[in-house]
Amino acid sequence: MAEMKTVGVIGAGQMGGGIAHVLSLAGYDVPLHDVSMEAVAAGREAIEQNMARQVNKGTTTQEDMTAALGRITPCESLSGLASCDMVIEAATENIDIKKTIFRDLSAVLQKDGIIATNTSSISITALAAATDRPERFIGLHFMNPVPVMKLVEIIRGIATSQDTFDTARDLALHLGKTATVSEDFPGFIVNRILMPMINEAIYTLYEGVGTVDAIDTGMKLGANHPMGPLQLADFIGLDTCLSIMQVLYEGLADSKYRPCPLLVKYVEAGWLGRKAGRGFYDYSGEEPVPTR
Ligand code: NAD
Repeated sequence: MAEMKTVGVIGAGQMGGGIAHVLSLAGYDVPLHDVSMEAVAAGREAIEQNMARQVNKGTTTQEDMTAALGRITPCESLSGLASCDMVIEAATENIDIKKTIFRDLSAVLQKDGIIATNTSSISITALAAATDRPERFIGLHFMNPVPVMKLVEIIRGIATSQDTFDTARDLALHLGKTATVSEDFPGFIVNRILMPMINEAIYTLYEGVGTVDAIDTGMKLGANHPMGPLQLADFIGLDTCLSIMQVLYEGLADSKYRPCPLLVKYVEAGWLGRKAGRGFYDYSGEEPVPTR
């Protein structure tokens, strides 16, 4: 297993930004790509703000922050990632978008390069089949926010090699994370359990059983959860929540996983949660305000 120096990231949103953040602080060179240089710049800006917060808290030094930011290279095209030892994909949770990325990436990435996906739910085996190297393809499912959350789920596709698995696990450990292994089933472990709970909370709202505040307060104080399920849904992104429910529903062919119509409606409205400024809460003021 060769030592890795350069780990590229595709998608500079919440998760790609977080992954680039922890990789660069750990000393890796990180070419960062998104659909436009504006999207990469916005991602880099968010990383800078999040690192500055760590400096203020004393968990990172200004010197380390400056060095880490210097290791992140904006890339306009995928060819900027050609020499990476590994590329971690964290683009929008949509199988067609991801397959197109993997086909295009396969054409430029050096032959020994490993490809990892941060998908929350999509089959690793299906995504691997869109590449030219299914044995060097793996699921590395980071949690949000990446710099804070300790877990990385590792998911092998049917063709993933032991060497690829060992390299991915060592990277997760090197980033200070705890790695758990999940089989390649829809939603893996965390979202198989978490997302139906969030979907049920949205049904509870939809059926008028309780308000946003009653549901979130109920689960925070009644079940000792650090965040209410609707607050967490907004934090994850309602488009991502809907995509995961659709993968569970279709992949497990069980009606208990049907996405709540209210979740569908919010996504249709573009009310995607915190990243869009509105979801189950309105984020335009100082404090989030429940919308129902
Ligand atoms: P996001 O909407 O914040 O970011 C997605 C980014 O992907 C955007 O910047 C978008 O411009 C970019 N993108 C879209 N198409 C692209 C393409 N063709 N090439 C390059 N970039 C492209 O979403 P996110 O929350 O960061 O989620 C990204 C991935 O991480 C998804 O697969 C999601 O399921 C997974 N994930 C999300 C969470 C979460 O809590 N949000 C947790 C774990 C895993």
